[in-house]
Amino acid sequence: MKIAILPGDGIGPEIVEQAVNVLNALGETFEMEMAPVGGAGYEASGHPLPDNTLKLAMEADAVLFGAVGDWKYDTLERPLRPEQAILGLRKNLNLFANLRPAILYPELAGASTLKPEIVSGLDILIVRELTGDIYFGKPRGVRECPDGPFKGEREGFDTMRYAETEIRRIAHVAFQAAQKRDKRLTSVDKANVLETFQFWKDIVTDVHKEYPDVQLEHMYVDNAAMQLVRAPKKFDVIVTGNMFGDILSDAAAMLTGSIGMLPSASLDAKNKGLYEPSHGSAPDIAGKGVANPLATILSAAMMLRYSFNLTEQANRIENAVKQVLANGLRTPDIYEAGTTKVGTAEMGRAVLAALS
Ligand code: NAD
Repeated sequence: MKIAILPGDGIGPEIVEQAVNVLNALGETFEMEMAPVGGAGYEASGHPLPDNTLKLAMEADAVLFGAVGDWKYDTLERPLRPEQAILGLRKNLNLFANLRPAILYPELAGASTLKPEIVSGLDILIVRELTGDIYFGKPRGVRECPDGPFKGEREGFDTMRYAETEIRRIAHVAFQAAQKRDKRLTSVDKANVLETFQFWKDIVTDVHKEYPDVQLEHMYVDNAAMQLVRAPKKFDVIVTGNMFGDILSDAAAMLTGSIGMLPSASLDAKNKGLYEPSHGSAPDIAGKGVANPLATILSAAMMLRYSFNLTEQANRIENAVKQVLANGLRTPDIYEAGTTKVGTAEMGRAVLAALS
């Protein structure tokens, strides 16, 4: 089990260190190798995704990624900016499935903008297709409108398209993720209006035949958006396309109100994955020892679950995180009166202690 460790910039190294400590404490044999990425990659070799870093990521069985970016690189030309590293990794590793859990631990229910009784105990997983849909479909651009009432005017246009293989493989990821959870999958589409999503719905229905133990429902995206804020706990796993997933996963993330708590995974067809917190490099608090490491620690748990099939060990980490929250420990981003404020390293040590 070889893991490429890419801490990146800002708070990346601080939070990744805590996740590495947790992985080392599990008693499994992981081979870990570290490499610079993002601004750190640019400083080391003039490119945000140095060749050696990409080679390491491609050879490894999984990648643990911190975060990239810093304001001081904002003046660099776009291909050299730190954020290009993550796009390059997604493309080169063929990471087409983005898994974003939205979990709200009962102890943090006050952090949500929704009423505690609506969100407390929320635990849903959004599986978003990441490399297709209207974001990548061609042709696209601005042209002279060829027909209709606006003929001759300039018009902007994009192309929504999904190949059967793209839908099948994301559906398999979603059904398999549901099998590891409550075995309920909601496929979100707009089949009532869009041909692409009628096709999506038909293919997902067909793939369902291979997963009779999972309960499948189809839901239109407008209804799904409404249900996410009305009764989010009714969902288990949601699978959808790139654009709908982009919007719904951010809405779901905000239900939890705490960006420092949310892990994510991006997987290829063989469950090789890149695991990272959903937040960025937080340059405003970098080096202060106050960043919340829990999203990164929970990303490591996702790695064990999805890339290494170490479900027991993943549960151990997640239970340890629940334990430290129940014990009242909080980094400043999730602090409330009556709890104990701790820094990054202290939070990491508390998770280690709760593991054993
Ligand atoms: P951000 O997520 O880094 O920070 C937003 C706010 O949340 C800040 O106030 C920050 O202090 C806080 N925050 C984030 N993570 C936290 C944590 N673990 N603990 C406590 N507080 C935390 O987003 P931003 O400020 O918009 O972007 C900063 C940099 O990160 C930019 O360069 C951006 O491009 C980059 N970025 C990188 C990724 C990535 O690496 N995948 C994702 C998003 C943004």
